[in-house]
Amino acid sequence: MSAMEGELRAILQQLTHQEKVTVGPRDFWLGHWHGQHVVAVLSRIGKVAAATTATALVERFGVSEMVFTGVAGGLGVGVTVGDVVVASRFLQHDLDASPLFPRYEVPLYGRSHFDTDARLVSALAQATQSVLADPLGLLGAQTLREFSLVAPRLHHGLIISGDRFVASTGESAALQRALPDALAVEMEGAAVAQVCHDYGIPFAAVRTISDRADDGAHHDFNRFMASVASRYSAAIISEMLRRL
Ligand code: SAH
Repeated sequence: MSAMEGELRAILQQLTHQEKVTVGPRDFWLGHWHGQHVVAVLSRIGKVAAATTATALVERFGVSEMVFTGVAGGLGVGVTVGDVVVASRFLQHDLDASPLFPRYEVPLYGRSHFDTDARLVSALAQATQSVLADPLGLLGAQTLREFSLVAPRLHHGLIISGDRFVASTGESAALQRALPDALAVEMEGAAVAQVCHDYGIPFAAVRTISDRADDGAHHDFNRFMASVASRYSAAIISEMLRRL
């Protein structure tokens, strides 16, 4: 599952035996990739859209595992543009049912964090390491220069999600103060993690850092997506499927 068109397109280029199934406004692409049966779909942007997509993947397509690939804003110290974060767990940073429930806790779940699956995470992290080992080969010298990418790194930890594109230094500093262990912020992952928790489906997610969630966050977003993130995504998921 990807949030954005550019990434899905890069993934669809690798799916063989493609068949498109349309459900409501969503196109689900069934196909084969490294011997696995795969359903590729655009989650659409935001928590509700992503949760609906995840539910359809389970209910209509009977998927046994889910992987999200996308971009995110870097929050943690040293989590810079071009780095990649593999999520260990997720939290909704905009969820607040206090004083009835503690801040961030999802009502009736007794928890604020949703874990990813150890086996999928391990495959995803190994795949990411191998892709990041040769950024020059994947992206070319000109793209590395354009985005000042030197030695992209893999991080592993908490990703937070909310229905806001975080694009101000003040808001990103506030999130860092409130949730100091958060490495990155995006708009879908925690919703998908909650759906997967409900259905007992193993889930993992990988996000390329497209911005620092600060005043410059909107600059070059689309170009970064096309030149860097979509190539990382397709390469990482391909390597991961090879390892499963
Ligand atoms: N400019 C884009 C809008 C993308 S919305 C367009 O025209 O379509 C941002 C997407 O990237 C979401 O899917 C979200 O998950 C992720 N994302 C990247 N940086 C983010 C940030 N700083 N805050 C929140 N989400 C971010």
